[in-house]
Amino acid sequence: LDLKAEDIQDLQELGQGNGGSVKKAQHVPTGTVMAKKIVLIDAKQSVRKQILRELQIMHGCKSQYIVSFYGAFLADPNICICMEFMDKGSLDGIYKKIGAIDIDVVGKVAIAVLEGLTYLYDVHRIIHRDIKPSNILCNSQGEIKICDFGVSGELINSIADTFVGTSTYMSPERIQGAQYTVKSDVWSLGISLIELALGHFPFADSDSGDSDLSDLDYTLSPARPNPGLLGLNGNSNTNASSNGASSFETRRREKKKEKKAKDKRKSKGVSLQGGGMTMSILELLQHIVNEPAPRLNNGPGGEGKFPRMADAFVEYCLLKDPDERWTPKDLLKHEWIDHSKKADVDLEGWASTF
Ligand code: ATP
Ligand code: MG
Repeated sequence: LDLKAEDIQDLQELGQGNGGSVKKAQHVPTGTVMAKKIVLIDAKQSVRKQILRELQIMHGCKSQYIVSFYGAFLADPNICICMEFMDKGSLDGIYKKIGAIDIDVVGKVAIAVLEGLTYLYDVHRIIHRDIKPSNILCNSQGEIKICDFGVSGELINSIADTFVGTSTYMSPERIQGAQYTVKSDVWSLGISLIELALGHFPFADSDSGDSDLSDLDYTLSPARPNPGLLGLNGNSNTNASSNGASSFETRRREKKKEKKAKDKRKSKGVSLQGGGMTMSILELLQHIVNEPAPRLNNGPGGEGKFPRMADAFVEYCLLKDPDERWTPKDLLKHEWIDHSKKADVDLEGWASTF
């Protein structure tokens, strides 16, 4: 497939992440429907070209557990990555729609992710680096595949330079600055599996049952203005003198919005400090480093309702010491995986329910 920007017609938007947005699109000459990821790269043209070269590696990544790659091109200042369209979307969207995912289906997810990780690592020496429910996709044939793996070192660097963000699926050793290894992906898999089985992020805020910290704004940069000043600063005063009534209305709305945001923060146990710094993410990272890892069966919502094998499997994913933590290959030999491989789960039927 020789992809050119002008041959691709955008259909609807599928979602937005930290690094860009994803649209459903059609390659008009062939009729191929695809997912088009648009990543804004704030870097020199030479860097963009380097990224594009590195992305070509994805042409060689062929596995039933990896979302297929159709091609990538520059559409200044963006890079467009075209991939297989997975019509049931990502597992985060799915569990938010249908609730906690049945543990037998979660077993099939574990197989797909481990097979995908093993393929990427054994064949291409690629570490995924971003395993989480939004990067595990499903289609109506009941296939489960992973996407958004770190194939381009240059792209990883550019995104790291642009977005001061961090992920709550990050392993304790990564939080402490250690090198990425395939074991870090295993940690992220463990957290993701608990999230799917419970139907909420495992590091839930203890004060408020169902709220969690996975969808917070993790931005630690002081780039945004303090929301507490909105509507009270010089700018809106200027507005007030030119157009009193509507500005009052705006201010009232801002205040309402501010209060809503405040309530939301409160319910998530988040406190804001000057300069827009979200503290709770730091607390969460500290928690991941210092406290025992979450478990399937003894966190809120777990309470011993899952099979012992599944609980043990997750425990091996979440051993805090990366030297002790199992590799994807070890885990593929775990008895829960054996059991899940044999389990007769109709994934196509399951996917037809949402
Ligand atoms: P982050 O940017 O933090 O990695 P994310 O994975 O949610 O978060 P994107 O990778 O930009 O962000 O994806 C946005 C959404 O688009 C995803 O949540 C998913 O629902 C949807 N999506 C991504 N790729 C595809 C695809 N190939 N087919 C169908 N939907 C997709
Ligand atoms: Mg993604």
